[in-house]
Amino acid sequence: MAKSKDSFACGLGPRELIELDACTQCGECIKFCPVQDVTGRPSISPPEKIRMYKEFIRATDGLRAALFGPREVDRELLEEFSRAVFECTTCGACGEACTVGIFTQRLWPMLRREMVRRGLGPIGAQREIPGVVEKTGNPYNKSAAERFSPWLPEGLPLRDMAPLAYYAGCTGAYEAMPMVRGDALVLREIGGPFTMLPPEEEVCCGFPLFITGQFDLLEGLVKRLVEGYRSRGVKTLLCSCPCCVNMMSRDWPLFYGGPLPFRIMHMSQFAAAAIKYGRLSIKRELNERLIYHDPCYLSRGVGIIEEPRYILGEIPGAHLLEFARHGAESRCCGAGGAARKVFHENAIAIARLSIDEAAAKGADKLVLSCPACYSKVNEALQGHGKQIRIIDIMELVSELI
Ligand code: SF4
Ligand code: SF4
Repeated sequence: MAKSKDSFACGLGPRELIELDACTQCGECIKFCPVQDVTGRPSISPPEKIRMYKEFIRATDGLRAALFGPREVDRELLEEFSRAVFECTTCGACGEACTVGIFTQRLWPMLRREMVRRGLGPIGAQREIPGVVEKTGNPYNKSAAERFSPWLPEGLPLRDMAPLAYYAGCTGAYEAMPMVRGDALVLREIGGPFTMLPPEEEVCCGFPLFITGQFDLLEGLVKRLVEGYRSRGVKTLLCSCPCCVNMMSRDWPLFYGGPLPFRIMHMSQFAAAAIKYGRLSIKRELNERLIYHDPCYLSRGVGIIEEPRYILGEIPGAHLLEFARHGAESRCCGAGGAARKVFHENAIAIARLSIDEAAAKGADKLVLSCPACYSKVNEALQGHGKQIRIIDIMELVSELI
């Protein structure tokens, strides 16, 4: 049976090593894990993944290993760990609940990278992402010609050079077109000029590669995008995909090699400011109950919680409901971490938990703000006993202006 004797610690930074060591196995995070909820598999639980990885480190890097040489780690255990770490949606709910403050939304991708380095990950279709991104510029194997043409509306104040730019993102452009069309219609209503890269230049932001631990293409993609926007005079880059916003604001500087020459904003921040300063007004009434789902990478990821609620609160007649778990504590929609590419049934089961709760609370519409949530929750609705209208927040706003 294949074994591994390579150091399990050397690929991790001091922060990850301290965090692994800090876990007290208290189990407080387990009840917030959506994958644990729908699978009940013990190895997926955050403390179990941490315990297993610490065992690997002890085998190759502990005192005993220093005195008597590294021990081999059983391949079956490694494979079990790898499956658990790639089945996780990287939602970060465990980190939010963690009693010692472990930043799990970052720890899990770093452990995934270690599994990739050993040839033990990623899993199934996740492995195809680098080749497809290299070939087409996006992880969906779609052509650049199809990126904008089906949804980009007429009459946009688009310029070659502008201080404001809009990045549609691959998931929005190919999988959640009503959402990105809503963004563009709202930008048209606000009225100021903005720029976009041509479809063949607006390549993947790198998030699917980063999150699956496949880092090889990242520096090239990031530098290409940053230079593209910099050469157009961009000072603010707008995007509505929470995963892109996360990748751009947290990780692009690392791969770019320094601070970005522009700031990153989520569409909800931009639209909320436009409403506040009188550049956008929601005119039509909507006498409905709306329930808003916080995307993991928007609320826990970059702390954008109030702006979407402010926008919904500006809709005349609308009544805002809340999930039991909302804001920084929201439950994952099931689509995150590229886990949906392989563990499809988990993703559907998790999404249905949110559909059921929204329906039980009497919501007329479930409002989303993430293209991955949009496509996965819509898929989960098909053939489900409970039905509810799903809408992206900018799609909704664009219908009411
Ligand atoms: S990130 Fe989410 S899915 Fe992954 S272990 Fe933590 S709670 Fe579970
Ligand atoms: S809450 Fe934090 S310390 Fe406790 S088991 Fe979970 S990860 Fe470990």
